[in-house]
Amino acid sequence: MNLHEYQARDILKRHGIPVPDGEVAESPAEARAIAQRLGGKVVVKAQVHAGGRGKAGGVKLAANADAAAAQASQILGMTIKGLTVHKVLVTPAADIASESYVGIIVDRASQRPVLMVSAAGGIDIEEVAATTPERIHRVAIDPRYGLLPHQALGLALRLYRDVGQARSAAGIMGNLYAACYAVGASLVEINPLVATPDGNILALDAKLVIDDNELDRRPEIAALRDASAEAPSEVQARQAGLTFIKLEGSVACCVNGAGLAMATMDLVQFYGGAPANFLDIGGSSNPQKVVAALRIITADPHVKAILFNIFGGITRCDDVANGIVQATQQFPLHVPLVIRLTGTNEAEAVRILTAAGFPALTDMDEAVQQAVARARAA
Ligand code: GDP
Ligand code: MN
Repeated sequence: MNLHEYQARDILKRHGIPVPDGEVAESPAEARAIAQRLGGKVVVKAQVHAGGRGKAGGVKLAANADAAAAQASQILGMTIKGLTVHKVLVTPAADIASESYVGIIVDRASQRPVLMVSAAGGIDIEEVAATTPERIHRVAIDPRYGLLPHQALGLALRLYRDVGQARSAAGIMGNLYAACYAVGASLVEINPLVATPDGNILALDAKLVIDDNELDRRPEIAALRDASAEAPSEVQARQAGLTFIKLEGSVACCVNGAGLAMATMDLVQFYGGAPANFLDIGGSSNPQKVVAALRIITADPHVKAILFNIFGGITRCDDVANGIVQATQQFPLHVPLVIRLTGTNEAEAVRILTAAGFPALTDMDEAVQQAVARARAA
């Protein structure tokens, strides 16, 4: 689950990380009032679950309250990476001497949280990672001991020559790790961590992604979810009990089981296609789940073919077949459907599908190749 910058800033602040004040506005008038209270120059920042807001025009300086209202009216309602801006954060503008990057991710390769820093922080950190990866420094954290002071100071000295500044940055890294651990984050980033001309170190941006599996035991974090800021397809999928991730390709995949879903996506890619989504309809799939899945899939205009790949175990093939038939009775499918199913109640499923005019395959390779070809021909 993604948090907004303002929510992430609150969490960092509670963990002792220096963050400028600020408040959230949903209208230009509110933005003006906040800027008036803060006094002086402010920054107006789009609150959406996307990076690169600065480049997209979603982060603007404003010299006074009127300018803040004008910037807010520009930013509210704009779309950044497909997401509409409903809120802006108004915060005092800091003077910047340098911008660094500090982040912690849970890293699969080292099976540990990894702290990463770069003195080349700011809006182009992805570029730095791609072209000059040697400018990013990392250390793996042993969760039994936590981030050790010498590890933090070692990395902080990569960012600041001044020992006082390096100590402040190391303290921030320690607090960041504590925050990460306390909220069950899978990723946390401060970009930029800035040094001001008078030598203070401040976090000017904050990104926090919470591991969804941590939400059940952290209701106060789960309550921070803002469904209005999420992709509508992902909200619908969550409500229907489906695991769904939208991707950029044209072959929609409807699969039972995460492992089979991954294998199906690999095979789509192998045969020259691109998956439009990851979708796991789960174990005991009732027909309603299949209907919900098809509703979500068909709403995506990039989808050119739909591939069902069902390995019936606990999931009954006839349930899936009934779901497909019910869905097509409720709304028309404008794209070709390729169905592969095998396992529990397979014969019954084939009978249901054939009666409704849908051919069913049992071979996975054949089905994937067909779906890729149909998507390409569309
Ligand atoms: P992002 O583009 O979504 O990562 O948004 P950021 O919050 O990181 O802002 C983008 C850029 O705007 C930063 O890298 C800074 O260069 C600039 N910026 C953000 N806040 C301030 C501020 O308080 N003062 C100044 N001068 N620049 C800022
Ligand atoms: Mn940033």
